[in-house]
Amino acid sequence: MTTNAAAIRAVSHAGKSAAERFGVVDMPSLDFTPEVARETEHLYERVSHHIPRIEWPVYAPYVAAINRLKKQRNAVILAHNYQTPDIFHCVADIVGDSLQLAREATKVDAEIIVQCGVHFMAETSKLLNPHKTVLIPDMKAGCSLAESITGADVRLLRETYPGVPIVTYVNTSADVKAESDICCTSANAVEVVESFGTDRVLCIPDEFLAQNVAAQTHVKILTWKGHCEVHERFTAKELVAYREADPSIQIIAHPECPPEVVAIADFAGSTSGMIDYVKKNRPPKVLLVTECSMASNIEADVPDVEFLKPCNLCPHMKRITLPKILESLVFMREEIHVDPALAARARMAVERMVNLKN
Ligand code: SF4
Repeated sequence: MTTNAAAIRAVSHAGKSAAERFGVVDMPSLDFTPEVARETEHLYERVSHHIPRIEWPVYAPYVAAINRLKKQRNAVILAHNYQTPDIFHCVADIVGDSLQLAREATKVDAEIIVQCGVHFMAETSKLLNPHKTVLIPDMKAGCSLAESITGADVRLLRETYPGVPIVTYVNTSADVKAESDICCTSANAVEVVESFGTDRVLCIPDEFLAQNVAAQTHVKILTWKGHCEVHERFTAKELVAYREADPSIQIIAHPECPPEVVAIADFAGSTSGMIDYVKKNRPPKVLLVTECSMASNIEADVPDVEFLKPCNLCPHMKRITLPKILESLVFMREEIHVDPALAARARMAVERMVNLKN
């Protein structure tokens, strides 16, 4: 576990683990019975593009067991747009980007949140839902961007640049958020940076997001050397090759990509922004320049759109699997805990962003 995850401890605030508070249940049968086949058939239709019919008897017992246990436990499953289609379409209750997920979870009447994503997302869910039990199926699901910076680094930046506001991307640990003035998402970063009315702003930790913001504002942006290991691998050269092969394709990129990649794109936006763009504009052929599962997940809703997949996978997101989600609900693990004082400061940075327009 890295320094960024130091604030996460699998110990409950009441001194009892989630397993002690909620109890452990027996591992359900994983046979592909006629009942399981009936219960899951409507879900198979959503993933039939990705899972051959012959493999469904392996997936379906997990899907049925998770969905039953979820009801029994009064739990809700949040799945990020980068989760695999079996998780995204068959067991998730709420899907979206990290902030959307955490905010939607505050509106549901569930005691337990199972976060299918990486651990900074689970922490954000805990910040916004302090009275709920938040579980992550694999505590090792990290993030190259979140782990590029610590709270101590932010304190050092504040000493080095006194008076310069610190805007932190939501893809960071609670420890880092707690040291920041405000958070931002890839969708609102320009607006957040300009909200201070200062000449200079520190926009951390994603260097490429900061450079992409700098191209859209007169505010001088200072940044950090953090990168998303999925988006930093895309190159302008490969996108030009796609476009030369087929000039009709629309290129849609995430702002965590290098600026020369974003410059070639027809549209750049957050994962939710990219999905909305495709659903609204229905381009016949699209190159989604982001994590590979996202195209697979939205295909079911836009069958008239053809996706070309440059396919960079996030190894951290892919740590979350159906068997681990089932174990999480059976054994009530791994529980996310954020120190309440640190959580209060981190939540303030998130809430300042949310309330920016109020
Ligand atoms: S896709 Fe990038 S930013 Fe998202 S979890 Fe993976 S490494 Fe982190």
